[in-house]
Amino acid sequence: MRKKIAAANWKMNLTWQEGASLLEKFVSECPSLSAHQQVIIAVPFPYLNNAQGVIQNRNDFSIAAQNCHHKAAGAYTGEVAASMLQSIGIHYCIVGHSERREYQSETNSQLADKLQLCHAHQITPIFCCGESLPTRESGEQNSFVQTQLQESLFKLTPAQIAQTIIAYEPIWAIGSGVVPSKKEIEEMHGFIRKSLSDWYSAALADSIRIIYGGSCNETNAIDIFSIPNVDGGLIGGASLHVSSFEKIINSL
Ligand code: PEP
Repeated sequence: MRKKIAAANWKMNLTWQEGASLLEKFVSECPSLSAHQQVIIAVPFPYLNNAQGVIQNRNDFSIAAQNCHHKAAGAYTGEVAASMLQSIGIHYCIVGHSERREYQSETNSQLADKLQLCHAHQITPIFCCGESLPTRESGEQNSFVQTQLQESLFKLTPAQIAQTIIAYEPIWAIGSGVVPSKKEIEEMHGFIRKSLSDWYSAALADSIRIIYGGSCNETNAIDIFSIPNVDGGLIGGASLHVSSFEKIINSL
């Protein structure tokens, strides 16, 4: 059975003091997770080490980075390499979030390199894909996502893809309060699973977690997580509030 994931993405929010008190509250209030549940919290780079310290007694929680660079090392001022994340004990990293694709112009080819570097450094990538509203309105969402998969994700070997998490995040749903219909989510998650099956194998496709992201909150999480092929959520805004994120975890 695939473990269900609640992954928090703090983005560029919270001072460390605010983040620490949020994490401390999670750690003390959130009951031990069940065997089928997993929690990952993606925090800003400067907080990675301290955040790991706060959750050190919760081996059911993991801290993730929100990005890494597409080059292994070198003269890239201000960037953070996958090897650096590994060196401080980080095992998860978001790759290809739509905000980075849009504001940092990240390309599918760069994301393919990031995925390789994550795997070279024993980091499980959380690979984000998803279409814009115009693409959805023109009915091109499947071919758009297929291209994102082909040009980045499907460069991975079977062993690497087995250690990868996929997040389907329609851009128009992120931070907007607009959630796709259950049918739209089911169709896209089914499409991604089928693409994995066609490219790799049915058995491998069946083992990979595909989580949903985009305005998922404490009231809609139960419904979203009950959709076939949805293995949890990548949560932005609602992960910044202890009670909301806890309810989302409980909905897994
Ligand atoms: C995200 O940033 O990945 C996200 C899903 O944000 P939100 O939950 O705020 O829509």
